[in-house]
Amino acid sequence: MKCPKCNADVINGVKFCSNCGYSLGKEKNINFAEHNSSYNYSSSNKKLKSPGLAFFLGFLFGPLGLLYISTKLALGAFILLAFFALITGGIGLSLWFACAFGGYFAAKDYNKKH
Ligand SMILES: [Zn+2]
Repeated sequence: MKCPKCNADVINGVKFCSNCGYSLGKEKNINFAEHNSSYNYSSSNKKLKSPGLAFFLGFLFGPLGLLYISTKLALGAFILLAFFALITGGIGLSLWFACAFGGYFAAKDYNKKH
């Protein structure tokens, strides 16, 4: 590697440049920061939606459970459910449980896109 200050060739792993005495420890800090950012990247990959949890939330909370996937989806499902409940006189509320399956597949779909 090269010393960042005087550009002299220095042996990999030494802490100070043999030519100018520049502390090369800072270089290691940069590498550490890069390592950290790559770690953050991999942990952000774990922000996938769990289809199992989406199913559970949809089953318990119906359209509200879909908030786990997205606000838009939850709102859409809520309006649809309210509409069906109105025109079927309550029978449409059985669609409540369809939200569980909706959430399950929406989570899988979400994971494919992210
Ligand atoms: Zn140097």
